[in-house]
Amino acid sequence: MRYILFPRRCALCGAVVAPGTEICFRCEEAAHRVPTPACPYCGCGRRDCVCEKRHSRFTAAFASPFYYTGVVRKGIRRLKFHEEPDVASVLGREMALCARREYADVRFDLVTFVPMTRREKRERRYNQSELLAASVAQELRLPCVPTLEKLYETNRQRSLDHRRRSGNVFGVFETTDPQAIRGKRILLCDDLRTTGATLTECAKMLRIRGACEVFCLTAAVGYPKKKRSGKDDTE
Ligand SMILES: [Zn+2]
Ligand SMILES: [Zn+2]
Repeated sequence: MRYILFPRRCALCGAVVAPGTEICFRCEEAAHRVPTPACPYCGCGRRDCVCEKRHSRFTAAFASPFYYTGVVRKGIRRLKFHEEPDVASVLGREMALCARREYADVRFDLVTFVPMTRREKRERRYNQSELLAASVAQELRLPCVPTLEKLYETNRQRSLDHRRRSGNVFGVFETTDPQAIRGKRILLCDDLRTTGATLTECAKMLRIRGACEVFCLTAAVGYPKKKRSGKDDTE
């Protein structure tokens, strides 16, 4: 009876699915998974990677289960703009599997997430990165700890070109409790990595305030662009 009143929906596309199913058959087929082995510097599959190992000294590595295309992009947008806890638990589980595979030898002390400003959180009522981090933490049996605050709102990353994006988040984040992160090996979660500027800035603050290592984990990573094109996706 419950299923008739509240039909189970595919976490990515929202189509009605059979009880006990989380992702519909079509989405499971269509989801663009990052092939393994993945590049630890950008989180893309090694055969797709164009990063030439450029990386920041503040981040130990990046990993994502999916590329930000098609149904996964749709799922993340559902998570971001409509409150969809099922999406967070399904993507969180995929992220946890990815962390187990890509960071198999790393012993994390805690899971944390990219914060929003208070106003942003009030407006959306939840932080999708926090929902994902909580789901990852539950899967990995680790504590999910809020460690960062976002001090002010930035221009939408969407409107800025690649070069200006990293400057756009400079100085935006601060740690809330340095005691909680000192000497800790941290798994930092977010929904999406495009340029990596936001995650790198968060990792930088965590490291400056005493964290021992910061590994990044996102639900999806932008598909690497072989050539610069005018159209850009967003962070
Ligand atoms: Zn679906
Ligand atoms: Zn790479």
